[in-house]
Amino acid sequence: MTHDELYRKALDGEALDVERALELYLHAPLEELAAAADALRHRMVDDPGVVTWQIDRNVNITNVCISGCRFCNFHCRPAERDRATITTIEQYCQKIDAMLALGGDQLLLQGGLHPGLDITFYEELFRELKRLYPQVRLHALGAPEVAHIARISHLDTTTVLERLVSAGLDSLPGAGAEILDDDVRRRISPAKPGVDSWLEVMAQAHRMNLPTSATMMYGHVETPRQRIEHLVKLRELQARRPEGHYGFIAFIPWIFRSRGTPLESEGVRTRFSPVEYLRIIAISRLVLNNIRNIQASWLTVGKPTAQIALHSGANDMGSIMIEENVVSAAGASDSFDAAGMQTAIREAGFTPRLRDQLYRPRE
Ligand code: SF4
Repeated sequence: MTHDELYRKALDGEALDVERALELYLHAPLEELAAAADALRHRMVDDPGVVTWQIDRNVNITNVCISGCRFCNFHCRPAERDRATITTIEQYCQKIDAMLALGGDQLLLQGGLHPGLDITFYEELFRELKRLYPQVRLHALGAPEVAHIARISHLDTTTVLERLVSAGLDSLPGAGAEILDDDVRRRISPAKPGVDSWLEVMAQAHRMNLPTSATMMYGHVETPRQRIEHLVKLRELQARRPEGHYGFIAFIPWIFRSRGTPLESEGVRTRFSPVEYLRIIAISRLVLNNIRNIQASWLTVGKPTAQIALHSGANDMGSIMIEENVVSAAGASDSFDAAGMQTAIREAGFTPRLRDQLYRPRE
């Protein structure tokens, strides 16, 4: 098939298999790839002249984690008592009050795989946060955390998800996907639940109609083929979601940041290339032609590249991100406030629109 025929296939909503997507990813000229992705974006979003953004706040539930991800400077081992923390309700309140003052509506709650925090801890936490702040949405945990909580609570993941939703969980982030390949995961996240576990937790969330997102962290030890296989796995899972259910609302790729990480000491360093990022955004739009929103991660690629990404398939700029620890601890330092975010979107030629987690417009 020619490149034009492959673009047509993607634009018509058909699935690109690994070989065909890899051909485009590796060999199509960037301008052509980006133009096809932009054309598909025009078909998939309601108003192509709009770029959405969000105000939320990332709060880490704990920094204790047994996963030992080799790209993470943030976590500590349970035995490191002088470093180990669990966020208190008073600390949540301070952070939420500050977020509300800035117009935010969502907490992105992430934590490590803490060996001592089972389902009852998270139920009590979510219930208390919802009691204190019923208007704040909880976008919390991730598939590895759900699998971990199930294991230490002696429950199945379905029961864990049902109990978390009943306690106040509003949506499940795509965290912990990294690259959905078990060889890669063994190298970068040796103790994290594997690919099947990640996909099964997400499939269960889709069956329950719990909104989810999907991510990819690239640029470490994976091959181009493994990146494309990652996208195809996401597309196939999305295609299996029950009719009318949310499934994956958005896809967010980001570049691995190496500074000070164990992977860096093994010689695996950030090799950020704006051109490569734009190719990732464009091929993601073409392969994931059943996931409506593709996010440009300004936090990890910077404003100019994120702005070009909006013309290469992305339709969302993510959050002003009031607090983020894992990525910033490894070398990402860009930041926007709300005015800066809107200016960046306008400079790129679009109308900014504040959104919520479900991509609904906010005032
Ligand atoms: S990235 Fe998350 S799961 Fe991995 S070690 Fe850090 S805190 Fe743990």
